[in-house]
Amino acid sequence: MDFLHTQLDVLQKHLAFVAVEPIDWKTYVQVSSWLVCLFEVSYVIRLRQYPLYSKTAPPPVLAAHFTDEVFAKSQAYGRDKAKFSLFEGFFKQTLDSLLVQYGVYAWAWSVAGRSIGILGYGPEYEILQSIAYVIVLFLVSVIPSLPLSVYRTFVLEEKHGFNKTTPVLFVMDLLKGYAVGLVLVPPFLAAFLYIFKWAGDRFVPWLMAFLLAFQLVMVVLYPTVIQPLFNKLSPLAEGELRTRIEALASRLKFPLTHLYEIDGSKRSSHSNAYFYGLPWSKHIVIFDTLIKQSKADEVEAVLAHELGHWYHMHPTKLLLISQAHIFTILGIFPAFLHAPAVLRAFDFPADVATHPPTIVAFLLFQMIVAPFEAVVGVAMNALSRRFEYQADNFACKLRGMLKVEEMADMGDRLGRALITLHQENLSTVWVDWLFSAYHHSHPTLGERLRALEAFKVDESKSSKKEL
Ligand SMILES: [Zn+2]
Repeated sequence: MDFLHTQLDVLQKHLAFVAVEPIDWKTYVQVSSWLVCLFEVSYVIRLRQYPLYSKTAPPPVLAAHFTDEVFAKSQAYGRDKAKFSLFEGFFKQTLDSLLVQYGVYAWAWSVAGRSIGILGYGPEYEILQSIAYVIVLFLVSVIPSLPLSVYRTFVLEEKHGFNKTTPVLFVMDLLKGYAVGLVLVPPFLAAFLYIFKWAGDRFVPWLMAFLLAFQLVMVVLYPTVIQPLFNKLSPLAEGELRTRIEALASRLKFPLTHLYEIDGSKRSSHSNAYFYGLPWSKHIVIFDTLIKQSKADEVEAVLAHELGHWYHMHPTKLLLISQAHIFTILGIFPAFLHAPAVLRAFDFPADVATHPPTIVAFLLFQMIVAPFEAVVGVAMNALSRRFEYQADNFACKLRGMLKVEEMADMGDRLGRALITLHQENLSTVWVDWLFSAYHHSHPTLGERLRALEAFKVDESKSSKKEL
């Protein structure tokens, strides 16, 4: 532990300039966030991806699978989504920029102080004021974006035939979401801030342990308590599909405890499947839409892909990477925690800035590192796409691994399921590589079909060698 703290101290010495140098952090945040926005929205979406929606035929690898009608529909849907992202990107950036420019972060802190004052609590109750602060900021930054999600659901998705959400369901979802936030966020924040106070400058390992424990609790809590508020999970009916998945799971020694069907069709006709749970007890969830759209042996192949993620321990690897990411963020943060100059740059009065409240320092710090976080996002997408190929490859190798001849065509079945998924979801088929780097955690359909072909060739070569 001491070695860790020595290293962190060295890092802090390099960052000591933050506390003393009079840096114009507000201008830095404005310029860097606008540059990121202009690059991501104007260049990547408008100039690189948007023109691809004018193409009149699908890529050759997909020509046989997309009828003219489906292709035209997918281009129209993609074009509308791109236009919407363009507007949304600029809207959110303008809003954030105004909040920074006009000192709203400082104003919100004084509003939070006055609110708890009404209840009889003074500024010495920093944690309480911090919770009020987050609520005030939520109101000024999230509520103005509400019309955008109304538009997305009831205009964009509706126009292309995906929306199944009724206005009542939409409002109920919002209220339930806010209620869950109100129950979870205050205790989380209180514990988070308390650890800073309690552990002083040695907060890094304690906070990391707390965040890890919180993530694990959420793995249990989310599907059992939170998700049922929004969706109905029912045991998958007995039949061919259930038998196939149970057989696959037991052959792979996947600790399957529950196999659910989820009523995703209640809100949208987009489809999917996933698994979750603790290492010794896993649950598989399949969207009713996927079951309806594909044959049982094709859904089995989708699950073979999902179990590939489990076999290669992708969720664990992602968790470890997120821990390393959190560690880096927390290692840099102390330089900003004791830096009155940073708060002054964002219009905080001298009396608040002298002893920066942890939550304020943390939020300002988040804005300052945001451009670097954008790079982290691109890297995480690249890693996720690698994992997708690995899971596809796993499905293709099952016959060799399990010695089950009936699984020889798993790659073909997965390919067919992916094609159906893309047709039904009207997914974009022409994708610019930079757009893909930013927005896609999965390779495109064309890329995956080409890779599946290559995996099948490898697989048949290695099974011939065995003979
Ligand atoms: Zn996957």
